[in-house]
Amino acid sequence: MTEQQYADMNKPGEIQTQCLRCGSCCRKNGPVLHLGDLKLIREKILLPGDLVALRKGEPALDNIAGRPVLLTRELIKVRGKNQNSWACPFHDPQSNLCLIHQHRPLQCRLLECWNTREITAAYDKNTLSRNDVFSRGSAMEEIVAVHEQKCPVEAFTDLLRQDMDSPGKKSRDINEMITYDERIRRVFQGKTQASAQDLDYYFGRPLKDLRTPLEAFIRQRFS
Ligand code: SF4
Repeated sequence: MTEQQYADMNKPGEIQTQCLRCGSCCRKNGPVLHLGDLKLIREKILLPGDLVALRKGEPALDNIAGRPVLLTRELIKVRGKNQNSWACPFHDPQSNLCLIHQHRPLQCRLLECWNTREITAAYDKNTLSRNDVFSRGSAMEEIVAVHEQKCPVEAFTDLLRQDMDSPGKKSRDINEMITYDERIRRVFQGKTQASAQDLDYYFGRPLKDLRTPLEAFIRQRFS
């Protein structure tokens, strides 16, 4: 599409009615997956290294509320382009096109930046979690369950909060949880050859990386 065609689609002063393909949505954030997107994982359009599990209790930006929140349920999201950015890795900055356009996830299909009604209605409904992906009774489901039992984010946050109230009081428990989290990742990686990126999908982001954002959230919330 030519620049003239883009301009003709949305003339100054007119109400926008279609996508300008400016790429700004994709540059800001990739989508969270819904149950309908499960086939994209099954068909390997989206690979483990493309995704990250945001576990219950993790701090995340609520795009609708426009502020950071602690998640009340797990989400699976397309990972950011790099560590410092949530820009979608499927956005091609040269062409401003989506590299998986035919297979783009539900949120991308619903998002109309000029009319957010549909995306707002669907935003927190039927979101995907690892329980939907890993078959019941599978080894993967079992490992994830053990990890969740030993390293739940909410319990980790509680330890951090107590330690911030009384410095040093919970540092041993905090370090034990971080060490267990690291060990289970290392063992899994040794047995499966999963990449470091894959681990963020199988086990969520490492607790040691969540510590600083969680402490910042606690400070903000309780100061
Ligand atoms: S999957 Fe495609 S449409 Fe969706 S945010 Fe990424 S680049 Fe944009």
